[in-house]
Amino acid sequence: MLSNKVKCDHCGVFFNTLDEDAHFCCKGCASVYQLIHESGFGHFYDLETERLGPLREKPFMERDLGWLHQSITKAKEAGNRSGLLRIVLWIERPIDEGTSWLVRELFTKQGGQQLQLDQHEGRLDVCWIIGHFDPVVFAKELQRYGILVLPAKVSSAKEDHSLKFRLGFCGAFSLGVILFSIPQYLGIEGEFAPSMLFSMLVALFATLSFVVGASYFIAPVMKAARHRRFHTDLPVAIIISITIIISYFDWANGANWLIGFDFTSGLIFLLLLWRWLRRSK
Ligand SMILES: [Zn+2]
Repeated sequence: MLSNKVKCDHCGVFFNTLDEDAHFCCKGCASVYQLIHESGFGHFYDLETERLGPLREKPFMERDLGWLHQSITKAKEAGNRSGLLRIVLWIERPIDEGTSWLVRELFTKQGGQQLQLDQHEGRLDVCWIIGHFDPVVFAKELQRYGILVLPAKVSSAKEDHSLKFRLGFCGAFSLGVILFSIPQYLGIEGEFAPSMLFSMLVALFATLSFVVGASYFIAPVMKAARHRRFHTDLPVAIIISITIIISYFDWANGANWLIGFDFTSGLIFLLLLWRWLRRSK
């Protein structure tokens, strides 16, 4: 008997099956698909989707949410008189339009006050009033829909490491650019014997800075574009790309415009630093 290749109605993964009526790759996807329709959230499937893959046991797993109880206790201790509490939660990425919409819908349904969702970071800034909303119930509800709420360090440790790595290297490259630009700053590059070598080193360090640092912003933009989605880093990616192009043009023509390799490498370093400070909040 030949097996059929079928696309899962929930996660979109193709799977082999002997069952001609099969629609789901696993019981996790089947459960969430049914739940979404029973809850009246069928619009979820009309939105752009970029699934993480088969859900398998994810909606049914027993999870220790002790860390969340601790975070809530801290939020209560720091709470203001109005009774409005705030907590930061993290969910797995990539976060597509459908997941973003579903999280907001569930938040409103659960009685949450304010929600800011950063799709790129996977960060949820949750505000609620005591007695009207429970982050633990919210986290459990999200899990039923196949969305896991995670402690910040677990969800972002890999990206933090990548960001620190890029920040360190781009800081060093930017310093290299400044160092080898000193003859130009002092206006003695013509008299200075290795000025051509220095100029090439400046271009090399700026290029390395672009490859290592700018890719942090450009890669997710390209990925989003492939799925015909807008990414919030698009303006940053465009600005960095324009500055490096102008820098090369400037260098090739021997012109001395406002934007040079020093500006580009400095800009990349500052943007990474800004992102790192924002993530460390
Ligand atoms: Zn599936």
